[in-house]
Amino acid sequence: MQLQRPWLPNESAAGSKTCTKCGATKPLDAFYRNAQSADGRHPQCKACRSAALVAYRERERVTINARKRDAYASNPGAQREWNRAWRNGNRPARRLQHQRRRALLAEATSCAAFTAEEMLRDWESRGLTGCSYCPGEFESIDHVIPLKRGGAHELANLAPACISCNSSKRDSLLDEWLPRHVERLRREGVVSDDWCPPLAAQPA
Ligand SMILES: [Zn+2]
Ligand SMILES: [Zn+2]
Repeated sequence: MQLQRPWLPNESAAGSKTCTKCGATKPLDAFYRNAQSADGRHPQCKACRSAALVAYRERERVTINARKRDAYASNPGAQREWNRAWRNGNRPARRLQHQRRRALLAEATSCAAFTAEEMLRDWESRGLTGCSYCPGEFESIDHVIPLKRGGAHELANLAPACISCNSSKRDSLLDEWLPRHVERLRREGVVSDDWCPPLAAQPA
């Protein structure tokens, strides 16, 4: 049933209406359906709505970019690390999602929810920007105390690791593995004798 509201200029009994934006009179199907309108059609024509949406997205984009700029200004290091990781095709968010699922499956002692960006900021604040166990790059997420050994899925128990270190460490605890590992790196000339893995400089 079509409600007649002749006092409104944009309605007509003839199956057409006048757009409140551009003022053109068009057939009803030139207007999107809109449950809130008395005639079931949006007051503005489709062309005007599309233009408004494009403008809205552009405004949104400017707002989002401004938010990113603010985040960068408050912690440029984390943003740099994030950008670098992203450039390398190393998707921290995907990796974190994978590790969280592993933790849930392993029924880890605790399974905290945090974003990949929070994780990267936490690492940055602890001076962990590359692999925690060698001079290599961040390529994977390591549970420092392995899930299988009762480790928690929490920021404090996560560290960046290169794939080689991560697979060498596997389910070992740090004191079972790290001294041997550093010794090997020194022996192979990968690091100097006074080199210390970034994670070892952390308070326990
Ligand atoms: Zn219009
Ligand atoms: Zn490494």
